[in-house]
Amino acid sequence: MEERPLLMIPGPIEIADAVIAAYSTPPPSHVSADVIRDFGDALRAMRAVWCADEEAQPFVVPGSGTLAMEMAAANLVDPGEAVLLVHTGFFSERMGEMLRRRGADVTEIKAEPGGAPDAAEVEAALGSADFKALFATHVDTSTGVRVDAEALADAATRHGALSVFDGVCATAAERLEMAAWEVDVYLTASQKAIGLPAGLALLVASDRAMKARESLGSLPPMSIDFAEWTPIMRAYEAGKPSYFSTPATTLISALRVSLEDILRSDLGADHGMPARFAQHQRAADALRAAWDALDLTLLPAPGLAANTLSAIRYPAGVDATMVGSVRERGVIIAGGLHPDLKHTYFRVGHMGRVVGEPERLLRTVEAIGLALAQHGHERDVSAALDAVERQLHA
Ligand SMILES: *Cc1c(COP(=O)(O)O)cnc(C)c1O
Repeated sequence: MEERPLLMIPGPIEIADAVIAAYSTPPPSHVSADVIRDFGDALRAMRAVWCADEEAQPFVVPGSGTLAMEMAAANLVDPGEAVLLVHTGFFSERMGEMLRRRGADVTEIKAEPGGAPDAAEVEAALGSADFKALFATHVDTSTGVRVDAEALADAATRHGALSVFDGVCATAAERLEMAAWEVDVYLTASQKAIGLPAGLALLVASDRAMKARESLGSLPPMSIDFAEWTPIMRAYEAGKPSYFSTPATTLISALRVSLEDILRSDLGADHGMPARFAQHQRAADALRAAWDALDLTLLPAPGLAANTLSAIRYPAGVDATMVGSVRERGVIIAGGLHPDLKHTYFRVGHMGRVVGEPERLLRTVEAIGLALAQHGHERDVSAALDAVERQLHA
């Protein structure tokens, strides 16, 4: 067993050695030549990782995923404007609360935990009123449910609404093509699939989203205003320093390393983002084969399970103390998060470097299989490990 426990939660995640090296330095100045170069390169790499076009504006702001969500709400929506929220769990709930605090008139279409509203329902809702924007959580980390972002973005576009996706548990792991799908805002935080420590809010806004900010009547809070940050981003991209509020300089250099690493993904015939998405799909399929072999049931309904984490129901007779037994075996997983049923399931994160590390995936399955057996759910752990190997080599 490795000395340090393996971190398999839905963020923070295990991160690349080169990224650790990049942030393990004395803090550079925000006007140093290295930071200027790294900042510009990171912004350009964001467009590529987000599959966005040249007009799209990336933002790197000190903060959390929650801050990035707030930034989207405050820059796109005026008090009194109607928005549609596709609600799939804990983080959608948070998005709705933010929008209401912004004064928006929020219509929610909500699914049972583990489900997602179906396309026809969203379509009907979009046709029923003049919505400024549709908001959805790409992968809701509380349920492990992934929405069909392509279909939602398409429906929003056809009804003249902007589309905003909270990608905090999805960006750089689940397929999302900002330009091709005409997505208007896609946001995340550094500690999820991007593969950094927590500390950066990351957001890319389409040209349409930038125009929505320009025509806003009620200004956003200054610290998250697109209009304050845009000149800073443009200056760094043009190779010049600029100041509004101090950027997290060490993390920005690490961000460049991580994004460039992501863009170098290679999986047989696939390269770049297609390979990166395929790696996550393959690892998720392999783990799902293991959960199946261990006789476990997922919380998400069939076809809705994300590739970035597994939300798994405790089998009969097993409770949340099982998470501690997995920890004793050197692997950290997470308990449930959805308020209605958090004591009934656990979560395993599988994003970033671990998807290319079969040994760590196997170690996770083994720790979970043995812990379940210890708690009375005894199944053939070696069959689960074989299932992972078979899928990874399929
Ligand atoms: C983690 C997460 C957030 C919140 O990010 P913080 O950095 O913890 O504020 C928001 N949305 C989703 C989908 C997440 O997974």
